[in-house]
Amino acid sequence: MYTDITSKLMGKKMETYTCPMHPKVRSKKLGKCPECGMGLTKA
Ligand SMILES: [Zn+2]
Repeated sequence: MYTDITSKLMGKKMETYTCPMHPKVRSKKLGKCPECGMGLTKA
């Protein structure tokens, strides 16, 4: 259904992950901070 596709494209929030110690660090994928190696948390 068209509305279903639209909601998938528009309604899905882009999730970003950030380091609690380095807010400038942002990643689209869950991983480790390149600066300190801590696990990223969902922003
Ligand atoms: Zn960090």
